[in-house]
Amino acid sequence: MKRDNSALSTLNSELAKPQAKSLHSELAKRILCLDGAMGTMIPKGKGLGDLLCLTCPDLIRDIHEQYLEAGADLITTDTFNAQRISLADYNAQLLVREVNLAAVRLAREAADKYSTPEKPRFVLGSVGPTNKSCSISPDVNNPALRAITFDELMEAYTEQMTALIEGGVDALLMETIFDTLNAKAGIYAAEEAMRKVGKRVPLMLSMTISDKSGRILTGQTIEAFLISIAHAPILSIGFNCSFGARDMLPNLRALAQRAPYYISAYPNAGLPNGMGEYEQTPEMMAEEMKPFVEEGLVNIIGGCCGTTPEHIRELAKMLANSQCKVQSEKCKVQSEKFRVQSSKFKLRTQHSELRTGKACTQHSELRTGFAPSEVLALSTGKARTQHSELRTGFAPSEVLALSTGKARTALPKRFGAHGTDARGGIRECGRTMQRGWQ
Ligand SMILES: [Zn+2]
Repeated sequence: MKRDNSALSTLNSELAKPQAKSLHSELAKRILCLDGAMGTMIPKGKGLGDLLCLTCPDLIRDIHEQYLEAGADLITTDTFNAQRISLADYNAQLLVREVNLAAVRLAREAADKYSTPEKPRFVLGSVGPTNKSCSISPDVNNPALRAITFDELMEAYTEQMTALIEGGVDALLMETIFDTLNAKAGIYAAEEAMRKVGKRVPLMLSMTISDKSGRILTGQTIEAFLISIAHAPILSIGFNCSFGARDMLPNLRALAQRAPYYISAYPNAGLPNGMGEYEQTPEMMAEEMKPFVEEGLVNIIGGCCGTTPEHIRELAKMLANSQCKVQSEKCKVQSEKFRVQSSKFKLRTQHSELRTGKACTQHSELRTGFAPSEVLALSTGKARTQHSELRTGFAPSEVLALSTGKARTALPKRFGAHGTDARGGIRECGRTMQRGWQ
């Protein structure tokens, strides 16, 4: 077979760029600082922030520069809502490519301007969860209804991510993940987009926890989420938004113990007051985030809702003090440990799939919308043996909703086709499902 030298030379020239390798190498060296919120910085009444990349580029460039000046190593593009599903609300769904390319150009120029050999700056392509869920019905009277299918979402993400990668981001950051199936559509799309453009970039994930029991909105625990995405090549995983730093800490400990990836955390500036405003000062926030660093839990920290360049300046200051540097060494050791654990983790996942083979033939995936290993993860809590809600992490009505969806007929194909190839049991289950529905 003839070797495709063109692809190889593209890859080599990519790797020759100083930025390409150094996001990994910087993460191995020290804790990196991510920027803060974009929304806080945009004057009210300006409309959808993402479109400002086209209509007010100077404003967006200035926000990026303020965060870089404050000490951010990583800045995120102003593209949280820049896929056709969210843009359709503004009748701007045809502008996906333009918005994303413009957003990357603004962030790239700013990052390159502030980059030095000692402190390189990186651009992360922000990808939000969209305003629709693959797993939850938007209508309480029709639990089987879905506002969007996996394929529709995957195609929308592919379009956005293709533009982000072509524009020149250093990594993709899927943030504010509240629905695992949405995230899986994004992971699938990221692979598609990289294949299309012919360039690989690291993929970073950030969940948002929606209650104090440590679950995302669709009911999955941190462990279940980790198993759900174990098939994907991921650079980092973490939390954003959710609550303030103090309430994020226990979840962060749980994640750092289990996840074989670099860990990120960028909480809101405390909890919002009655008016929905965030009142935590930069000093208060940095104080609450100190344990993240001191316990060696994180590799990336930053801010979400309510944070400003002053908050980021305070965090960068905290990372610069010598005590933190020692912790960052500890973190490096941790991350080595994670890599070793990673292989064990994958082995465990396979074991659990083998163990639940029976459940699989009884359509457990069909019933809950989750792969057997995910159901197992949801079911292993000691306290959860009696009821279906406790077993699956879903209320009975939700299990019903997940199990009765006519709209889900498009899913089995996708479930079988991606991420689960190595898992014979699940593939078999997918076939059973397809037969069942034909
Ligand atoms: Zn937030």
